[in-house]
Amino acid sequence: MIQIDLSMDYFQYDIYTLIQAFFPGEEIKVTFQEEIQKEFNGIFLKTIYTESGVTFRLTESGCESIREKTVVWDNDDRKWRKRQLKICLYHMLSEHTGKLLPWGNLTGIRPVKIVMNILEQGKTLEEARRELKEIYCMTDEKIELALEIANEELRKLSEFDYSTGYSLYVGIPFCPTTCLYCSFTSYPIIRWKERTEEYLQSLFEELTYISEKMKNVRLDSVYIGGGTPTTLEAEQLRALIGFIREKFDCSHVKEFSVEAGRPDSITREKLVVLKESGIDRISINPQTMNDETLKVIGRQHSVEDIRKAFALAREVGFSTINMDIILGLPGENVSHVKHTMEEIKKLSPENLTVHTLALKRAARLKLHIDDYEEDINAAPEEMMKIAAQEAESMGMKPYYLYRQKNMGGNLENVGYAKEGHTGLYNILIMEEKQTIIAAGAGASTKFLVEEGQIHRVENVKDVSNYMERIHEMIERKEEVLKEYDSQICGGLC
Ligand code: SF4
Repeated sequence: MIQIDLSMDYFQYDIYTLIQAFFPGEEIKVTFQEEIQKEFNGIFLKTIYTESGVTFRLTESGCESIREKTVVWDNDDRKWRKRQLKICLYHMLSEHTGKLLPWGNLTGIRPVKIVMNILEQGKTLEEARRELKEIYCMTDEKIELALEIANEELRKLSEFDYSTGYSLYVGIPFCPTTCLYCSFTSYPIIRWKERTEEYLQSLFEELTYISEKMKNVRLDSVYIGGGTPTTLEAEQLRALIGFIREKFDCSHVKEFSVEAGRPDSITREKLVVLKESGIDRISINPQTMNDETLKVIGRQHSVEDIRKAFALAREVGFSTINMDIILGLPGENVSHVKHTMEEIKKLSPENLTVHTLALKRAARLKLHIDDYEEDINAAPEEMMKIAAQEAESMGMKPYYLYRQKNMGGNLENVGYAKEGHTGLYNILIMEEKQTIIAAGAGASTKFLVEEGQIHRVENVKDVSNYMERIHEMIERKEEVLKEYDSQICGGLC
């Protein structure tokens, strides 16, 4: 148990998340102006604010010594104070635990965004390195990774004026079965088979609204995700993509992706439809190339099915295929990851996305955590290194990165790509560089109202609810577009 006691509610969230990063899975309690109880067992962090600064005092039961560090405010700026506080607390916790966190005191999900900001200010690489080390306490390895990715993203974004366009996300919330770790909006297709047409009709209504509203704004990329879009029938996929092409001006679209995702939803007919409809990037996501693990995570397909789906996609003519893998799946150790990477190498996709298992609240895995706790997150750092080395040996470079809460080893998810196959949509959504309008159940629209400021509009997750309340989903977007018309569409909406 960890108790954070504060003399006032100031930077509580920052202190909490940093403690959480050092002690993943530990119970953390926040109190105000309490004294340590005699029977207390654990770490007690007293935070005392004064006019001139803040003092952290850390005691641990069974440990005689008390650690103490003080930050003296010499500036009124809240952002500056937050930085100083985080640096101080990071060093204190690092000394106490003997741990260095790979991403230092950065607890947010988009570390590359900070690096991009530094580079966009015109600072040299050396200045950027110094800042990342001194202010954010990142390890050298992560500094180099973040700089490489930020440079790659800036290079890709410099190819066009992303600030005047937008992207479209379309969500199909059905999957063949629900994976153990899933935290997305996903419902077993078997239960919804009879109502997919009805779902598409609601989706078309929402898409029609977006197309009319955004008709004067350039559409840069389209992503159909989910769920698993290929749970739809081939003709439904044709109708959906045809509808998008008819309603939206796709003449400037640089990338049109479909998450084929699960091999157990892929057929030749569907791949042919995607190819004929002009889709240039698909994903076939194994997560692991070990049959035993596929069973544990609730997949009803084999490694052989993954190989067949991949071969089929090549035969049909797809030249940009992404594969997703997850590190730290239940029962997997370093040798499983090596095996997965060797098998993926034989297939040679153009993109690889490496996830570290994140235990999100909604996932069944979290619900059954006791059954798997000992098996998960074994040596995630070593696994990450293997995946990175193998990606490099396939001729890939890292090009986007994000973190999630509760990630194994406090690490990250990294997207790798071969030259010329960088996924634009992934960069745009991760770095929040332009508005992404999302349609479908559970879809989340991110309106960029000004540089660095996102206004989110969520659609309801439940499919029946989405269909019944489709006008409300549209109305939610309308309200924001009315309010921020000039910022989002340059007054053209
Ligand atoms: S394929 Fe993806 S969206 Fe579908 S159940 Fe598995 S994790 Fe969830």
